[in-house]
Amino acid sequence: MSQDFLIFVFIVFAIAYLSYGSRDILNKLLIAFNIKIKTKAYKDFVILWHPILINKFPFYVLLNATEQDTFCYRTRNIMRHLEFVDAEEGEFITETMEVCVSASLAQITFGWQDYLPPNLKKIVLFKDTYYSNLFHRDVKGLTFAHHTMLSWRYFEEGFKDETDKLNLALHEMGHVLWVNRKSYPEEDEEIKEWEWFAKQEMAKMLDNPETAFLREYAATNLAEMWACSIETFFEAPVEFKQKLPEIYGKMAKILNQDMAGRVGKIKRGRSTMIS
Ligand SMILES: [Zn+2]
Repeated sequence: MSQDFLIFVFIVFAIAYLSYGSRDILNKLLIAFNIKIKTKAYKDFVILWHPILINKFPFYVLLNATEQDTFCYRTRNIMRHLEFVDAEEGEFITETMEVCVSASLAQITFGWQDYLPPNLKKIVLFKDTYYSNLFHRDVKGLTFAHHTMLSWRYFEEGFKDETDKLNLALHEMGHVLWVNRKSYPEEDEEIKEWEWFAKQEMAKMLDNPETAFLREYAATNLAEMWACSIETFFEAPVEFKQKLPEIYGKMAKILNQDMAGRVGKIKRGRSTMIS
């Protein structure tokens, strides 16, 4: 091993240490250099979870084999990175829940090389709705600076209808990206432009709620507008692109993925097969 190479490795680690602290350095480096280490444990993970992801995640079905491999790899990595807390104080949380929650984050950050939002550390799972002391009412999910709370009942409900633009997991993971948005300075201009179009639409929604494409709750504030737009981006992308092309276009740029294009490609493929 040459001295220059050792100096290079030392510099890379020093930069990583200064950037991220001692925790997760290796993980961050692997992500930054897009290096996948496929251990036997990873291969076993794919064998076990591939059929379950096919059943539970419509997004996963739309991916080609290489993308599915990336999705599995990222899901497992997210799962290992996050702490899952059982709010029921029993043996409520299962591996399926951990995989599915991690997969929902892998879905919305699929276009990014750095798919781990830096501030998200913990997922708290409840069986059903739970009482929020902050809002003084029962809620299905909430996202804070470093953790997200989810009702498992409504998590599952969200994936039952894949086109109704209602998906708790995608909504809350949308909030995670919103909370972390300052960590993505390269997206800053795009987010500002998205905000400009979003504000126009929110004003229209308040004036004419009956003709709005996005659900009423989106007009509450920019954070809810973003979270509801994330749900719609994945559950009704073609319609979203037709009805609100500027907002859809900015989201596709920020997320670095074009869901309408992906869905359209699959549909075209199917019709070619039929004819
Ligand atoms: Zn929300």
